[in-house]
Amino acid sequence: MQTVKLDLAHAPYDIHIARDLLTQVELIKPLLLQPRVVIVSNATVAPLYLKSLQDALEAADIQCHSIILPDGEVYKTSETLNLIFDELLTERCERKTTLIALGGGVIGDMTGFAAAVYQRGVPFIQIPTTLLAQVDSSVGGKTGINHPLGKNMIGAFYQPKLVLADLATLDTLPLRELSAGLAEVIKYGLIDDLAFFEWLEANIERLMARETEALAYAVERCCQNKARIVAGDEKEQGQRALLNLGHTFGHAIESGLGYGVWLHGEAVAVGMMLAAFASRELDQISDDDIARIESLLKKAGLPVQAPQLGNERYLDLMAQDKKVDAGKIKFVLMRCLGESYIGELNRETVIAALDAGCS
Ligand code: NAD
Ligand code: MG
Repeated sequence: MQTVKLDLAHAPYDIHIARDLLTQVELIKPLLLQPRVVIVSNATVAPLYLKSLQDALEAADIQCHSIILPDGEVYKTSETLNLIFDELLTERCERKTTLIALGGGVIGDMTGFAAAVYQRGVPFIQIPTTLLAQVDSSVGGKTGINHPLGKNMIGAFYQPKLVLADLATLDTLPLRELSAGLAEVIKYGLIDDLAFFEWLEANIERLMARETEALAYAVERCCQNKARIVAGDEKEQGQRALLNLGHTFGHAIESGLGYGVWLHGEAVAVGMMLAAFASRELDQISDDDIARIESLLKKAGLPVQAPQLGNERYLDLMAQDKKVDAGKIKFVLMRCLGESYIGELNRETVIAALDAGCS
């Protein structure tokens, strides 16, 4: 088992990474304030993993209640959040009851937000079951739900007490979801870790084949990188925004096509290509480096060409993004392979990048 520590002064916690962590209740039990938990999962993940977790907890004399939500980003809403509150209140859950999120990023974000606000805050534990959730959404304490007028617009920074990344759960993940998670994995290489990018170039086939050793290394390295960035800037006042590499263009693609047409990771993959093209316009990254990024993304089963939405539509959609500061759009740009920074782009440069990146 590998362990990464998120060293926040007010709320440090461990991220454990290994196969078959689901049943290792000795990792959970010492953190509970009372021998009682509520597991939140969804209709896809619960049939696969809920029983193992629940049996192990009950064998350790921990009382369990489970809440099974419908599956999908479309349910990451205030209505679904209320279903969680209804159950917590009906079951008379107390401030010492721990919530456990068992699922991908949607379940993790919603459960975390429910934990942040139920009775002004109850403890919660993340058990992420998608690659994306293991390398990204379960770590760092961003929680929330969508609003009809914007994705992730309602939420809180609220840290879990523990993250258990059980690599065995990735065995059942659909291939397209695995690839989407790999987009975020590759992102960490491009942000500030050239050595990891090179490791990915050499090991991408092993990751696509879900070799445990390769997955364990990648998840650990991503969590280390995210933990370091988050520990330095928990509430995204500065460097944490580097984690948004590819996301400004990516969100425009997701919302321009209609949420769900492309997976988030797919849009981020293309968003990173567009960020690379924009950086090349600024005479920063070379054609050779862009070719390496493109090749790695393709081997990870990801798209590399942006859909044609029209340049004006892209500009409009990006102007609505959360990363707008006093009307100026911020972009994460690449100085070279493995070194990114936060900057701004003028209109002409964005259009040149779109011209280079659209199919
Ligand atoms: P998801 O939670 O929708 O999971 C993807 C699909 O895989 C779902 O159908 C799910 O039921 C299924 N699934 C999950 N685990 C499985 C398993 N082990 N076997 C088989 N199927 C499984 O999507 P995601 O990609 O995990 O997360 C996306 C969400 O995460 C978005 O809502 C996004 O906003 C959020 N997010 C949050 C942060 C953050 O910092 N909080 C960061 C990135 C993304
Ligand atoms: Mg993301």
